[in-house]
Amino acid sequence: MSDTDVERDGDPGAEPVMALRVLASGSGGNCSALILREGRRRRVCLIDLGLSPRMTEGLLGSMGLGLSDVEHVLLTHFDHDHFRPIWARRLPGSARCWVHAAHEPAARAAGISAGALGTIDDRPVGVGPAAVRAVRVAHDEAGVAAFRIEHAGSSVGYVTDVGRPTEALAGHVRGVDLLAVESNYCPRLQAASARPEFLKRRIMGGAGHLSNQQSAELVRRASPRADVVLLHLSRQCNRPDLALAEHSANGRRVTVSSQHRPTPWVPVAPGRAGRDGEALSSPPPVGARAAPGLF
Ligand SMILES: [Zn+2]
Repeated sequence: MSDTDVERDGDPGAEPVMALRVLASGSGGNCSALILREGRRRRVCLIDLGLSPRMTEGLLGSMGLGLSDVEHVLLTHFDHDHFRPIWARRLPGSARCWVHAAHEPAARAAGISAGALGTIDDRPVGVGPAAVRAVRVAHDEAGVAAFRIEHAGSSVGYVTDVGRPTEALAGHVRGVDLLAVESNYCPRLQAASARPEFLKRRIMGGAGHLSNQQSAELVRRASPRADVVLLHLSRQCNRPDLALAEHSANGRRVTVSSQHRPTPWVPVAPGRAGRDGEALSSPPPVGARAAPGLF
């Protein structure tokens, strides 16, 4: 069985209809792979293109996939750690890039052709077999798109570079099965860092990034059903153990992404959170769920 085959665990109710793997996340570049499964067909959607085409191709190759398998790309925004300009010339011919409607001018300016571009707002748009909605949240000048992806009764929220845990944002991703959310910095390490004051203010000023505490607050309010994946940890101003400590009280399984190593596939399936949607308790250690052969 290859690394991309679907593992059957004998419980049809728990068979994953989606799976998320963060290939890399951090200020050095962000890219995640989301598999949408329809019967035996698997569609590959990337979220952000912040790694070089070569590195992305290498990471996809290690999972038995190629760039030509990518059918859709969701782009949160156009900062260089989320979209490398070279991608405008290297997108697979059949891939469609999806951006928030307010980012359409930025996408065109980045060189993405009109034919390859689709826009999303707060109404559901069909992205392959999935229905995706996006809200725009304050981040630097242009803002960032936070996605809610629904497919076959399961849902994924993808929230990064969002500045603050607002009620609108929590409502947008409320009750998803899997919430991928940034947990960027520890305020103590941020304050003690040698970074210039203007940069600290930009990051912590409400239109930059979420601290570990703000991230945990957003998770509490959004109440995901089963899984939390932590994105975009600052190498300088955070540590996985500090981020995990803030999230441990939430009772969800937590996976921490890294800049240098892909996460395991995190499966998303209806029913994984229990009949009434209650969160699972006793999360296993990070990485312990690396299901061999899953997707
Ligand atoms: Zn970023």
